Amino acid sequence: MTIDTNEAVLTPPGQARMGVLRSDGQYRLIACAPVPAGARLFAIDGEPTDVPSRYSIQIDTHRHLDLPRDCPEDVIIDTYFWRYMNHSCEPNVRIHQQEVFASTDIRAGEEITFHYNTTEAHLAEPFACRCATAWCTGRIAGFAAAHPAERERLWPWAAPHLRALHQDPDGHAAPSVDGLPQS
Ligand SMILES: [Zn+2]
Repeated sequence: MTIDTNEAVLTPPGQARMGVLRSDGQYRLIACAPVPAGARLFAIDGEPTDVPSRYSIQIDTHRHLDLPRDCPEDVIIDTYFWRYMNHSCEPNVRIHQQEVFASTDIRAGEEITFHYNTTEAHLAEPFACRCATAWCTGRIAGFAAAHPAERERLWPWAAPHLRALHQDPDGHAAPSVDGLPQS
């Protein structure tokens, strides 16, 4: 990977397979080595709160993990690097409780993304997605606001607290994914 003054990969301690790419003042989480589908990448560490923010990740019905207040950038990169994980409508990781797993084979250098609607019931700050994947639905506002057909597509990856809010569209128990236990 090319490293110059404008582009650098910052590797959090203990994370051999991923890093934070700084490019043109923007940060994003990338794989630094190939990651096979199903592999566990890391656990999300954060401050529990009942108030979602732009960056928080919802882990239960009334529980979110957020960055500590006024957290310095170097601490975010070392400990809270998940904050740089962007949304994609066709992502390559999924979040199970606080653990992040590859949902596809991931190439070295590929950006690590998850679908915000698989953890968030209501986004604190809905946005217009421009990921340009075949599945892109444009506006991302949370699982509760997604079209029923989109909820059905995301169902296998949706967090237990989202499944609890919305019945399985088929009325059946949802299948487990990647051999992970069903919650
Ligand atoms: Zn999209």
